[in-house]
Amino acid sequence: YGGVMKEPPMHIVHIAVEMAPIAKVGGLGDVVTSLSRAVQDLGHTVNIILPKYDCMNLSNVKDFHYTRSFFWSGTEIKVWFGRVEGLSVYFLEPQDGKFSVGCIYGRNDAERFGFFCHVALEYLLQTGSHPDILHCHDWSSAPVAWLFKEHYKQYGLSSARVVFTIHNLEFGAHFIGKAMTYSDMATTVSHTYSKEVSGNPLISPHLHKFHGILNGIDPDIWDPYNDNFIPVNYTSENVVEGKKAAKITLQQKLGLSQSDQPLVGIITRLTVQKGIHLIKHAIWRTIERHGQVVLLGSAPDPRIQNEFVNLSNQLHSSHGDCVRLCLTYDEPLSHLIYAGSDFILVPSLFEPCGLTQLIAMRYGAIPVVRRTGGLYDTVFDVDNDKDRAQIQGLEPNGFSFEGADSSGVDYALNRAISAW
Ligand code: ADP
Repeated sequence: YGGVMKEPPMHIVHIAVEMAPIAKVGGLGDVVTSLSRAVQDLGHTVNIILPKYDCMNLSNVKDFHYTRSFFWSGTEIKVWFGRVEGLSVYFLEPQDGKFSVGCIYGRNDAERFGFFCHVALEYLLQTGSHPDILHCHDWSSAPVAWLFKEHYKQYGLSSARVVFTIHNLEFGAHFIGKAMTYSDMATTVSHTYSKEVSGNPLISPHLHKFHGILNGIDPDIWDPYNDNFIPVNYTSENVVEGKKAAKITLQQKLGLSQSDQPLVGIITRLTVQKGIHLIKHAIWRTIERHGQVVLLGSAPDPRIQNEFVNLSNQLHSSHGDCVRLCLTYDEPLSHLIYAGSDFILVPSLFEPCGLTQLIAMRYGAIPVVRRTGGLYDTVFDVDNDKDRAQIQGLEPNGFSFEGADSSGVDYALNRAISAW
């Protein structure tokens, strides 16, 4: 990063189903954008191929225009081009309406994304592209690895190498195993997660080409000095003033009392992975310790969503001045929470990398996390990790806990609130 070029420029094509900020569900979307920008800054040519969803926010796409059409398997595919965060993106729109279903996931996904991988390669073939690297992500674009090696490579689509990145092994394990076999190089998003999954039978035969590379966030995209969603922009110079203003705005917006209490933010998909029972416990513990809690999260599983709706009704009537659960996806609100929170809690049962703790640190909110995967690699406990931080030339930067029961969360949260 920083414009120093170490190897000759390459042409890299990402084939992905998420991209922040236009089509983001979780960290995969953030990483496709931030990794592409970082690699482009090194002097390489980077393109992204994405489905054209009807639910995409096109106001974040510059120079958006139609380029051409082609047919595949009896379906017309319209190709659109646009620039997102300075990156060239090709949007594929099958005219049978596959990606016009109002959402990214949740409708016959394996079939839709399998089709997308096919037409992405077909597009590259038909336009005479010769990428050096094809980069696919998780189960949703895993088919690129074997479709390329079994078909498109022979059809003359250059001699590209395939890189496959596992952002979360939980999803679509069947596809992931096959992509591990067919890819030239495979990565996952932190060193500790790579160790945690190395015994998995889908991974273990491929350790010679499997690497854990820690995710990062793009400091220009997540930048409290240049963020339209917070009231006062700030750097480390005026962080106290900036965070205070954000906290007041957040409290006003959500109807919390304006008192200066420690504010714990939680921004997450509400799934078992994210430590739902620990999140609930932490909410009650924070109330008991006279803190405030803001949770922003939505659950893909309607039963879990319902559970949280009930919990929010209960909490809003009993502790409405100090707790707000916002059970939705809301990008602008997430920025205000990162800025206005004193702590960001991430009690995941497992976490391949985790971006929320990184964004939190960028916004001066202190992470309180479970010691797993990328959370372990990025958060160094003030009491227990001084040496481990020092080896990496870092300072302790948060609070962490082991175990998966309430006493673990208490151990970290109590110390955090006491320190506040
Ligand atoms: P995962 O990919 O497992 O969801 P990560 O920590 O890698 O977890 O990435 C989560 C990303 O999604 C972060 O950018 C976070 O701010 C964002 N995010 C999660 N839930 C919400 C929500 N309800 N509203 C807005 N942004 C969210």
